[in-house]
Amino acid sequence: MTSPSQCQHLCCQIPGVRSRSRSGCRLASELVESRPLPEPDSEELAALVGSTSQRLLYGLLYRRRSNPPTMVELRLFAAQALGEDQSQTDRRVRELRRYFDVAAERIDGEHRYILRGWAKHPAADGAPISLRRRAEVLAPQRCAMCGKTPLEHHVTLVVDHRIPQSWGGSNDVDNLQPLCEDCNAGKRDYFHSFEAHAEEIRKAISYDEPQRRIGALLAAFKGEWVRGDLIGIVASAKEYQEDWQRRLRDLRFFGWKIEHQNRYNEGARVRAYYRATVVTELPENIPTAIRAEEARRRRARSASTLED
Ligand SMILES: [Zn+2]
Ligand SMILES: [Zn+2]
Ligand SMILES: [Zn+2]
Repeated sequence: MTSPSQCQHLCCQIPGVRSRSRSGCRLASELVESRPLPEPDSEELAALVGSTSQRLLYGLLYRRRSNPPTMVELRLFAAQALGEDQSQTDRRVRELRRYFDVAAERIDGEHRYILRGWAKHPAADGAPISLRRRAEVLAPQRCAMCGKTPLEHHVTLVVDHRIPQSWGGSNDVDNLQPLCEDCNAGKRDYFHSFEAHAEEIRKAISYDEPQRRIGALLAAFKGEWVRGDLIGIVASAKEYQEDWQRRLRDLRFFGWKIEHQNRYNEGARVRAYYRATVVTELPENIPTAIRAEEARRRRARSASTLED
């Protein structure tokens, strides 16, 4: 276990993720190996793993602990039960490893995936970034937020996780950016303001669809204003969303009421805020439901044109 004082990682300095009892990261003390694994359909698992596909995959690994599946079986399962491209399976397993110890062992000449228990070291203090990747991320030699450079402005650049590891962010290049130390500190202060919501943000990020991620975030804030850049971060958690505002507007198809406000008094930049005043349950399959609703509205429009 890592104590907060030892752990220098930005993510671990977010209150609400870090323990206040000084007994180590809350994540670290929560995810001890000796704790029994959650049942596949338990609330405990649902609270950790928001994605249904991921929970189904966990279920397979859980049931097959005495006869662990091979990668081929996992991929078949993903294709048949989850209707997913097989290439997603590696990523799914990797994501489960944030919380669970899933070992790949060669048994009788085949790699089998064994769910052994809770992750020994939780995601908050996740794998270090390799020197090569660090160099790659820092190569632009420019802060991704303010644009300052070491050469002109004598700033020191650090590698930052766009989405903190403790919120489920990875060490993938997409999730890393160069920041100057000032911007990095500013971001840390900003994240400090989410103390009360760290758990819900982690859950929101774990969903597969951008609309569901945004919806869960807004719902977690229960009608409070949420800054647009946080929504952008959460929307892009699984894959970069060029137009997260559009994904946000999609929620209105399902009866959500979302208000928007620009604030001009927070330093140099205009800041957009959003809040949900009406929240509804989202459908199982969001893209299909959106297409159906769009078609319905088109029909309604052409019907009213005929009447005129
Ligand atoms: Zn830590
Ligand atoms: Zn900067
Ligand atoms: Zn980080």
